[in-house]
Amino acid sequence: MRLLSLFVAALLTIPLASRLGAQTRTVALTIDDLPFVTGEDKPLLPVDAMGAQGANQKLLSSIARHHVPVTGFVIQKNVEEMGSRAGTEILREWTQRGSDLGNHTYSHPNFNDLTIEQFEDQIVRGEASIVPVMKAAGRRVEFFRFPANHTGDTREKHDTVAAFLAQRGYRLAPCTIETSDWMFNAAYVQMLNSHDKASASRLRLDYLAFTAAQIDYFPGLNHQAVGYEPPQIMLIHDNQLNADVIEQLLALFEKRHYRWVTLSEAEKDPVYQIPETLITMYGPMWGYRWARELNVKVDGSLEPDPPKWVTDYGKQTPAPARRPQSEF
Ligand SMILES: [Zn+2]
Repeated sequence: MRLLSLFVAALLTIPLASRLGAQTRTVALTIDDLPFVTGEDKPLLPVDAMGAQGANQKLLSSIARHHVPVTGFVIQKNVEEMGSRAGTEILREWTQRGSDLGNHTYSHPNFNDLTIEQFEDQIVRGEASIVPVMKAAGRRVEFFRFPANHTGDTREKHDTVAAFLAQRGYRLAPCTIETSDWMFNAAYVQMLNSHDKASASRLRLDYLAFTAAQIDYFPGLNHQAVGYEPPQIMLIHDNQLNADVIEQLLALFEKRHYRWVTLSEAEKDPVYQIPETLITMYGPMWGYRWARELNVKVDGSLEPDPPKWVTDYGKQTPAPARRPQSEF
């Protein structure tokens, strides 16, 4: 109740003009796992650098054409694996085109498996490339995103690392819409590798249809949780699939009359002042966290599922459950 009152009080302090402004739908785009993630169950290699460059070019030109401000979250180990020079060059292109970079740890570990000390070390080592690249662009690294949004599975881990991040000057990067793109991409890359063009083209269409369904689902969840539609924060990954469909993916938001905003601008909405205190081994989207925090009952089973033929395709890359059915 105390949190709810805080939230309502924060909402009432916003001038009427900006509350009316808030009726315009806004969304911030965040792209994780820079400089590239293959979707295969093996590390990046220097030989992957060329493909990564091509994919990043596609992403960056569409983003520029649609005037989308983006925050990219970097895995330092991926920078090193593809060759620091090639990896850093990609990061530099992002900042030169005006995008911000955030910390996504050194090697993208599962926080559930690490101690506090190990995870803090991941945060510090995650700064190796992003800090100098952002500094060269005259900017400061502001945001941190937990791998798989695992924000801490015990109270001690959650609160200690949250305090460590704040002390190092980080703000948490939440997200409100996801689209299981890592899973679609794992299947997609297998299709491309085996020259199965028919399946790859069917997958692209099904991925966009699923993404459209997710873009329509999460605002309803968020509205139910907090009583209005806050600025959305979309999460996708720097992979081949998104590079190949980015034009159509951006259009999904534009058709629904969303205006692109920066992550900082989205976070100005009072909803992002609701404390993030959930202790869980899963990584639910923020609508579920707000609902929990404000004691609003929501039904996570209403969230669309990706098509079965995609989830069944070949050997899937193991990944944590995206939605804790038992909890939400
Ligand atoms: Zn990630």
